[in-house]
Amino acid sequence: MKFCLSRISLCTGYQTSIWLFVDQFLACRKRVCYISLAYVVFTSLACADYVEVTLLGTGTPRPSIERFGSATLIEAGGQYFLFDAGRGATIRLQQAGITPNQIQKVFLTHLHSDHISGLDDLWITGWIYQREGDLTVHGPLGTENMIDSMRTMYREDIGYRTANVGHEDAYLQGVEVTSGVVFEDSLVKITAFEVSHQPVEPALAYRLDFGKRSVVISGDTTYSSNLVNHAKNVDVLIHEITDARSELVKRNPRLSKIMAYHTIPQQLARVLNETRPRLAVMNHVLLFGVSETSVLNKIQQGYQGRVQFGADLMRIQVGENINILSH
Ligand SMILES: [Zn+2]
Ligand SMILES: [Zn+2]
Repeated sequence: MKFCLSRISLCTGYQTSIWLFVDQFLACRKRVCYISLAYVVFTSLACADYVEVTLLGTGTPRPSIERFGSATLIEAGGQYFLFDAGRGATIRLQQAGITPNQIQKVFLTHLHSDHISGLDDLWITGWIYQREGDLTVHGPLGTENMIDSMRTMYREDIGYRTANVGHEDAYLQGVEVTSGVVFEDSLVKITAFEVSHQPVEPALAYRLDFGKRSVVISGDTTYSSNLVNHAKNVDVLIHEITDARSELVKRNPRLSKIMAYHTIPQQLARVLNETRPRLAVMNHVLLFGVSETSVLNKIQQGYQGRVQFGADLMRIQVGENINILSH
């Protein structure tokens, strides 16, 4: 299993290695081939039913050097899947040892600015880094319009770069999705479902399934029974959190509106009791005058399972065990 710990993951290459091995083994039956066989068997066993989550951004619209805008990367079945692309997503990817051209599939929870403001950078910089094929951006109603506007916004830049070094078109595709399976291949299934973030409608959450492993990302929502239905006994639930000192809420009606469409600690404790994930990680950390410790205490008063705050560049390895590392 330790082989999977490397960012140059053997899991990413293990399918390729199987074909390389078959090819080589047929041509040569020397000792090196048997070593290759051992490698293939080991990596297949170790990497089946294994996913890795990297929290690229655990913040909100507030500019913060510790918590960049919402972005969560999942590596499963040798592919990368990026959920939201908030401020600084490309910088965090680079810090995680991943270049932007390696990202080809993005899934947006909703179109609030803090979930999309890093998308243009990811797209254009990945193109400059010679991404092979499209950047495909799945998202709720409005995504295609946003993608068309991005193309317009960068028309001059694309023209200059194409003229200078003969880049091909900066391929970008918007795919509007609704509840249901939005991506499926022989290994990975991604399901979108609606959550409660009115007046943002629809706001989506996503569930990724790979073999026995599963991860749910709540996006922005208050308590959502639909999320509970989709997240029961999931391996990892990545859920947003908000909290504020009561005097601040009383003094500021705008703040109470913000709180109303996010999830407060008592609501999260309820969600966790109803879903029972193996691990719950809080992201989109929106706190007003309260500490993370006090928020965690409130949640743990109502829920005894494994729960903690996420941090940018935290890596969560999900297999038989769930290990948490930081870059
Ligand atoms: Zn948000
Ligand atoms: Zn939002």
